[in-house]
Amino acid sequence: MSAPQQDGRSPLPLLPLRGGLVLPGQQLSIPVGRRKSKMLLRELNVGDELLIAAQRDRRTDDPGEADLFDIVTRVVVRGVEPRGRIAQLLVEGLQRQRLTKLVHHEPFWWATAEDVNETIVDEDAATVAVDAARDLVADIADEGDADVLRVVQPLQAETDAGRMADALAPALGVPFEVAIEVLGTLDKGQRLRRLLDLLDEFELRRELNRDVERRIREDVSKSQREHLLRTRLKAIQDELGDGGDDEDRLKQRLQEKHLPDEVRTVVDKQLAQLGRTQGAEQAVVRNHLEWIADLPWTETADEGDVSLSDVADALDANHRGLDDIKERVLEHLAVRQRRGPGGDVTILCLAGPPGTGKTSLGQSIADALGRPFVRVALGGVRDEAEVRGHRRTYVGARPGRIVHALKKAEVNNPVFLLDEIDKMGRGWSGDPEAALLEVLDPEQNATFTDHYMELPLDLSQVLFICTANDLSQLSAPLRDRLEIIELSGYVTDEKVAIAKDHLLPKALQRVGLEDGDIDVDDALLRDVIEGWTREAGVRQLTRALEKLARAQLLNMARAPDTLATVHLEMDDVTKALGKRRFFPEVKERTALPGVATGLAWTPVGGDILFIESSRARGKGRVEVTGQLGDVMSESARAALAWVKAHDDKLGFDAADLEHADLHIHVPQGAVPKDGPSAGVALITALSSLLSGRRVRSDTAMTGEITLRGRVLPVGGIKAKVLAAHRAGIERVVLPKKNERDVDDVPEEARKALEFIFVDDVADALDATLEKHVQLDDDLGGAGFNVDQAPA
Ligand code: ADP
Repeated sequence: MSAPQQDGRSPLPLLPLRGGLVLPGQQLSIPVGRRKSKMLLRELNVGDELLIAAQRDRRTDDPGEADLFDIVTRVVVRGVEPRGRIAQLLVEGLQRQRLTKLVHHEPFWWATAEDVNETIVDEDAATVAVDAARDLVADIADEGDADVLRVVQPLQAETDAGRMADALAPALGVPFEVAIEVLGTLDKGQRLRRLLDLLDEFELRRELNRDVERRIREDVSKSQREHLLRTRLKAIQDELGDGGDDEDRLKQRLQEKHLPDEVRTVVDKQLAQLGRTQGAEQAVVRNHLEWIADLPWTETADEGDVSLSDVADALDANHRGLDDIKERVLEHLAVRQRRGPGGDVTILCLAGPPGTGKTSLGQSIADALGRPFVRVALGGVRDEAEVRGHRRTYVGARPGRIVHALKKAEVNNPVFLLDEIDKMGRGWSGDPEAALLEVLDPEQNATFTDHYMELPLDLSQVLFICTANDLSQLSAPLRDRLEIIELSGYVTDEKVAIAKDHLLPKALQRVGLEDGDIDVDDALLRDVIEGWTREAGVRQLTRALEKLARAQLLNMARAPDTLATVHLEMDDVTKALGKRRFFPEVKERTALPGVATGLAWTPVGGDILFIESSRARGKGRVEVTGQLGDVMSESARAALAWVKAHDDKLGFDAADLEHADLHIHVPQGAVPKDGPSAGVALITALSSLLSGRRVRSDTAMTGEITLRGRVLPVGGIKAKVLAAHRAGIERVVLPKKNERDVDDVPEEARKALEFIFVDDVADALDATLEKHVQLDDDLGGAGFNVDQAPA
């Protein structure tokens, strides 16, 4: 088909879609079933342009002008497969146009269209909408795994409201009703605003994350389909004799490349085969040869003479604090240097909540060593083939992630960050972990074989660094290979320092301001950290600072002659970030007897959690609801047995409980991983409820309990203590056997807190309950046997 002219008057072929459309910038693979549409596909070549229009009614078979939405998309063909019952067309959206006339109907549709004027009426409103969209994207990215991140991350940098809407809608997989509004709204700001409103209206936000994940899984098969299309296309080109240039170029690249003998033999054989085969078979051989040409078989990054002190300097320059972590990283590198590559050293694994600097530590190590840094996302990987590739006989086969990463690195000694190894799953087809173990094993990784490549690859020079959030998800064999370094999160003072020295300057730079354009004092930073973020790491904080920087940029643009340095006030913070989001809530929550502040460990850091108990007239039943119902029920039974046995000490009559139902609730919030460690908090809540003595609001607690009232040690002490400190707690009750773990807690938190170590429940209650009974009879939980309370 001849190249179309784009003056808006020459007709272009038009493809009507039922219940579908293409947005500018979007790549879409379109299945085509209608006879007329298939005729069109037979005429199309890669690079041709056409119009895509959405039908008003999907049932119309041969639409006329009135049956089509008048805003259409001009697209370019990226791939086409016209044969088969369902033909496929791969297109990329170029721009919006307005349909002016449908000129022919036969043998397929032709139409004229003209450019439209995309306006932006209210710049400020558009900026606000972009901010809101970026927040939404950041939220999705925060919760999603590495695959989700890959898809939504590019959007975090988008500043144009129109493009943001055009990219966000397909990324979120919005329904047709929403997409058609996005296509049809010409004002860019309004378009994005409308999209965000519709997301709320369709209650899409709630379901978004799951949905995005599902779509990404589908994307994988889509990319395989694309690959298939390309392979066929190449085969067709070969038949037509168009592929000659490519082939010569490939041959030359392979000739010039320095290859190990074994690889050279295979290349020679395959090149000979290339001449003998045709069509799809030839394309498979060519693809394989292209991968061989792309991989760094012998190319090595020159490390020069990097000393460990250079690495130490780089780590210090980019990371504040983390002294013992840096020390251990250096020790590890020293051992590696001594043993040489391939020596049997363990693999470094940085473990900790998001935003604690794992990725950026990896990047700094690579920078200091002068080696390329490649992140390999393993979260959500379920099939062995994703790590190790598909065999070439498989339709749409491609190499696995390790080979992809090597290609990206361009040298055979890069730093690979194997991200989120704890989130790898086990699917139907093979165990990805077995493949990973082989990659990490120095005895085997000098001859790692990818199923697609079918050639031994030498990974022994690669410096692997793993990251994980939740170590309990790692299998024993994998753990054995790792030297684990835990990053458990920062206390507020550390966050203030990190924000001042690193995050704020970076945020300013990102929006185009300079370091020093904004001045923030420590107290205000502290307020931002405590009032608008709640996390172990600094991700939310990074975002909050970026928002502040953007708001400031807008202010400066509005009033160009303001002072050189702007001093931020609380007012600016609330304007940019909205109302304060987090308050020290412990006091209010524990105002009633029956509520205790527990400490939980979660993969994203420690957190406080409230255990609420209440009592109603009934038949002696106990019900546990909320988080961890099952595990808690066990502890609750142990707790209740002990409490009943000690009723006189606590000052109530266990016989009364026959006419009462007890309800224990752990509100939704952080998802704790270690249920039994709530035992002490549970028994404290129950004792408080039944005795009428309030739980001390300055005190948080953790510990497992036994039926006989012993307190057993629990895990995650450091993270839990940090969380207590963040929440403004002053005293922490811990199992005696955990006393040593407190040494790991950073000094700021350790100094600010009082620790009480207990090994039996009676001592724990002494420390957690107020001495006197709450006399206010209006309070729900309290109210019986008050006068028997012990002093
Ligand atoms: P993770 O990989 O643990 O999720 P990142 O490495 O992505 O965390 O860190 C998030 C951001 O916080 C990065 O911009 C990083 O540079 C910054 N950051 C984290 N910890 C520190 C620190 N100790 N000093 C300076 N910047 C830090």
